[in-house]
Amino acid sequence: MLALKKPARRVVFPRYCFLDSARHISMNETDAIARRQALTLFGAAILGTNTRNYAHAERKRRVLLFTKSSGFEHDVVKQRDHGPSLCEATLTKLGRIHGFEIIATKDGRVFDGDLAQYDAFFLFTTGNLTEAGTDKTPPMSARGKEVLLAAIRDGKGFLGVHSASDTFHSTGSRFETQEQPDPYIAMLGGEFLSHGSQQEAQIKVVDPNFPGLEGLGASFSIKEEWYSLKNFSKDNHVLLVLETEGMHDSDYERPPFPIAWARKENKGRVYFNAMGHRDDVWMSERFQRMLAGAVAWTLGTEDAVLTANMSSVTPHGSVMPPDR
Ligand SMILES: [Zn+2]
Repeated sequence: MLALKKPARRVVFPRYCFLDSARHISMNETDAIARRQALTLFGAAILGTNTRNYAHAERKRRVLLFTKSSGFEHDVVKQRDHGPSLCEATLTKLGRIHGFEIIATKDGRVFDGDLAQYDAFFLFTTGNLTEAGTDKTPPMSARGKEVLLAAIRDGKGFLGVHSASDTFHSTGSRFETQEQPDPYIAMLGGEFLSHGSQQEAQIKVVDPNFPGLEGLGASFSIKEEWYSLKNFSKDNHVLLVLETEGMHDSDYERPPFPIAWARKENKGRVYFNAMGHRDDVWMSERFQRMLAGAVAWTLGTEDAVLTANMSSVTPHGSVMPPDR
């Protein structure tokens, strides 16, 4: 009897590496053509080719990627063909280029272990992570959550994308700003309120000097599932603003508000970006560039000047949309 040939494992890495100087990656001609097409598709023509590489010769930094879904489970954090999720595959590839290692897990017990071995934490999560919830993976303990927050205060980096803001919600009315948000939300710097239908929207780049935002121009537009957010921390250094005018759905019937920022949590560097729902966002040169810069900043290999700029760039950013 003939043995069945094992099907080739689907390549889950984003196919298009965006770094011209990515010496780690060899590309055949077909890939090169596909890459050129992709770069055009994703608007890379406006970005130029002088992309930064954040790899340093010193010790490789370790980033713990935690993608447990106690609430809604996003496609981008689901395993694909028994391999890594698109989120994990993308970050692993960026790590190879930029000199950091991704250690991925959905097991909340990791926060009861030795956190000193990690340099930063990267969350794409939903819900109350102290409950097994939707994906049924072991939850984080209440102490694990406290230990994580303490580790950040003591100098570890933290990155949250998209539904990291739909995690550990504050108690109180949904359409109200909370005086005391959940300690996790206070650390993150903002909280998910709702989202409307996916649509193309205009994003204003507030700080083009922040690592990963160089060369994006004053603004760009992209189709995404846009989060409406609340409970912004007063010391957020706003990086990107959602231009709500002209958007459809009541979620966006509010003045422009921040969708990406950086802040300090005592000694720790914290970054949040509300993008990251769609596959094509993860595969885009623009988002990958932002993430690479953000990881470098949270790891302390890149620096940035932070100013609490919310009152000047989005003075009405905390105004709530209608509750309907
Ligand atoms: Zn989403």
